[in-house]
Amino acid sequence: MEYRKLGKTGMTVSEIGLGCEHLQVESREVVEQVVHAALDGGINILDAFMSEPQVRSNIGAALRGRRDQMLIQGHIGSIWRNGQYERSRDLTLCQTFIADFLKRFETDYIDIGMIHFVDTLDDLDTIENGPILEYALRLKEQGVIRAIGMSSHDPVTARRAVEAGWLDVLLFSVNPAYDLLPENMKIESYFVTDTWNREGLSGVNPKRAALYDACAAHGVGITVMKTYGAGILLNPALSPFHRAFTTAQLIQYALSRPAVASVLIGCQKPEEVTVALAYEETSAAERDYAEALAGTVQFSTARQCVYCNHCHPCPAGIDVASVNRLYDALRTNAAPAELIQAQYAALEAHAGDCLACGVCEERCPFGVGVIERMRAATEAFGK
Ligand code: SF4
Ligand code: SF4
Repeated sequence: MEYRKLGKTGMTVSEIGLGCEHLQVESREVVEQVVHAALDGGINILDAFMSEPQVRSNIGAALRGRRDQMLIQGHIGSIWRNGQYERSRDLTLCQTFIADFLKRFETDYIDIGMIHFVDTLDDLDTIENGPILEYALRLKEQGVIRAIGMSSHDPVTARRAVEAGWLDVLLFSVNPAYDLLPENMKIESYFVTDTWNREGLSGVNPKRAALYDACAAHGVGITVMKTYGAGILLNPALSPFHRAFTTAQLIQYALSRPAVASVLIGCQKPEEVTVALAYEETSAAERDYAEALAGTVQFSTARQCVYCNHCHPCPAGIDVASVNRLYDALRTNAAPAELIQAQYAALEAHAGDCLACGVCEERCPFGVGVIERMRAATEAFGK
């Protein structure tokens, strides 16, 4: 395992880290297998944004006796209410769920206290001018958190936080698709010449490139989410590039951005940890992502769900991310239809329960037309 400096924090992190979001559906035994596989493979950083109580307790139990071998990213503002995840800027709720995090993780400190999911300048204003940043700074002063982080998908918002000086670590979504999101440019022009090498990344969205450079300049270490674009970039039927990347290519792509210290790969089973760790053994040729980008002529991630859950909670109780994932699986024949139908049937609420209220679309960082997808899923699944 290769290790990298995490910006100015003084921490050194494994370049492959563990994302824990998919562990929410797993038993304590499987959670322990995944966390131990990561630790045994040299992974020393994990992100746990989830507020669901059982998964927090399960990860805490898995780390028992090995807490000092793992750096933990815990999130300020990820709360659990009425049986669902919610993002909150309410100080009391944030405090309650940080206390819950510490208790369930069986620890008295969090290495990186992430201010959770800040995607707009207005929200950043609320945080900087209200009690949340004050709270994070106080936690740092008290040693309850060792570094202040922020998670975001928006390069402009993230850059302002980076340049404000209080941020130590940024959790940001990085992959070729997001970096190449066209902005007032014709995307085809990105692919007519071979610009895809370390010297000439001229195709990257300038706002995103500027963010990475700002992080490097301010000593803000980046930990990466969405390295595989929620699996979309591994699937030729869903990939906006109309071809699949390999995991090694996508990891290498993210690790090649300035200031990136670790890519946090979401793993649900120990075998997936093994796949992520296999990157360390790959050759330069196997990691080379330029070949996968060359010749691509079509590109659009607009309205593509990446199953991130950020649109929750839904007033109808719909697990929007799961519905979208199963709908995509069905239409791309990713698994036998009966299996997908059975998983869909087991959901507590279905697409047909959608009230078309639109709050999910307001929260979605990726512009997904959820209401339309709920209609399509209702038709596809029959309810
Ligand atoms: S539009 Fe439908 S899925 Fe979205 S929040 Fe409203 S009820 Fe839930
Ligand atoms: S609809 Fe948007 S916010 Fe919801 S899971 Fe999909 S990408 Fe995430």
